Amino acid sequence: MWRRLEASGHWQGEIWDRRKSGEIYPKWLGISAVRDTLDQLTHYVAIFSDISERKEAQERIEFLARHDPLTGLPNRMLLADRLEQALAHADRTQSKVALLFLDLDRFKTINDSLGHPVGDALLQEITARLKASVRETDTISRLGGDEFVVVITDLEDEEIAASVAQKILEITRAPFSIGGHTLNTSISIGITLYPTDGGDFDTLLKKADIAMYHAKDAGRNTYRFFTEQMNVNALERLLIQNRLQQALEKNEFVLHYQPQVALGTGRIIGIEALIRWRNPELGLVPPDRFIPMAEENGAIVAIGDWVLREACRQARAWREDGIGTLPVAVNISTLQLQHGDFAERVLTIIAETGHDPRMLELEFTESILIQDVERVLGQVHRLKAAGITVAIDDFGTGYSSLSYLKRLDVDRLKIDRSFIRDISTDPDDAAIVRAITQMARSLRLKILAEGAETTEQTRFLLAEGCDEVQGFLYSRPLTADAFANLYRQTSGFITNLTRAPR
Ligand SMILES: [Mg+2]
Repeated sequence: MWRRLEASGHWQGEIWDRRKSGEIYPKWLGISAVRDTLDQLTHYVAIFSDISERKEAQERIEFLARHDPLTGLPNRMLLADRLEQALAHADRTQSKVALLFLDLDRFKTINDSLGHPVGDALLQEITARLKASVRETDTISRLGGDEFVVVITDLEDEEIAASVAQKILEITRAPFSIGGHTLNTSISIGITLYPTDGGDFDTLLKKADIAMYHAKDAGRNTYRFFTEQMNVNALERLLIQNRLQQALEKNEFVLHYQPQVALGTGRIIGIEALIRWRNPELGLVPPDRFIPMAEENGAIVAIGDWVLREACRQARAWREDGIGTLPVAVNISTLQLQHGDFAERVLTIIAETGHDPRMLELEFTESILIQDVERVLGQVHRLKAAGITVAIDDFGTGYSSLSYLKRLDVDRLKIDRSFIRDISTDPDDAAIVRAITQMARSLRLKILAEGAETTEQTRFLLAEGCDEVQGFLYSRPLTADAFANLYRQTSGFITNLTRAPR
């Protein structure tokens, strides 16, 4: 400063100064030398301004650019920086780095039911517990929503990553007390290791995310290390997603039909149309693998309408071939029902295919009653008025309001297979089936048991008054031709002794 003042007569810059109170603060200072007419130095004039507020604001901006405002944890950007440093350090010291991807289980339910302030407070409490469960040198980051990442450095062996994950699960298991609510939550964790699973932030994060989904699939509240097999599955998922876009135009879907049978007589009383997808690359993709994806990307509306049209067309064709007129049941996705004017689309399909509406049963799940109840009721009533019947599929697994069941004017309940499976050994399942059957009878609903596979089960069902079944004991789902053959050969009566061919 002095050298500059002597040389040029002026200096300016930032300095730290002390107030009279003793507080230290930053100020911007400019000093000019003042000389008299003889060019002799007489004074220095200094002008300063207090820049502490400006500096604080600047620091805050820098902090916010690299941290999550809610929890104060490093954000994705700072995490990426820290991880790259950790990887370089690991290379020098021949150690490993673990990346733990954490996702809260059912956080959305807490947010939706108790509101965002409670959700936010929970995230803050979780942050505090996470900080207590890792070392100072490890990085905890919040990526957004309910996703956190923990980076563990200087890892000698991967067992340590497992024990940190275990500790996190334990420490978050104790209930949280927030705004008068006692909240129980759990966490699912996916773990990747450097250098085994990847060499950079994006790869390690992506694979940890995949492993986290496997932890969720395994029943949540647990951790999983990434394996290559998981990667193969995730890639396959992506492939299914891509191929699904064109499956309809490429005509890759086909319907199979499973007979529904009256227990006492063995008479085929109806058939359920079940979708199958045959793709040249993927082979046969089971519905539980692609229907959820089709629901995610909206393709379900077009696919569902195709199923309806194809089932009606097939039923009409059978009628013309002299095979009896059988009610055909079609599964309807809740999304399909909520999209546009569903009732109008169904009635158009019926008119175009010439199928008898009284021979069409639509299977809905209990979830149709969760949203937009009045609109759903209106749509269903229009279909009922045209003679179409309505069944509730997988009954007992979801949320059912009995008053809505009545208002929906449901014709049939299909008891979910999960209750039928252990009906002869599990007293709870037996009691559930008994209760559903009795309720159906009092409401004058028909009742059908899904997944009948043994004679013990059918004996129990018959004794309880549930006399309609569908299951492998009688017939697996068949191609249209195989079903026509079965129907002709048996004249429409199958017992479990004349089991249908494969
Ligand atoms: Mg069904």
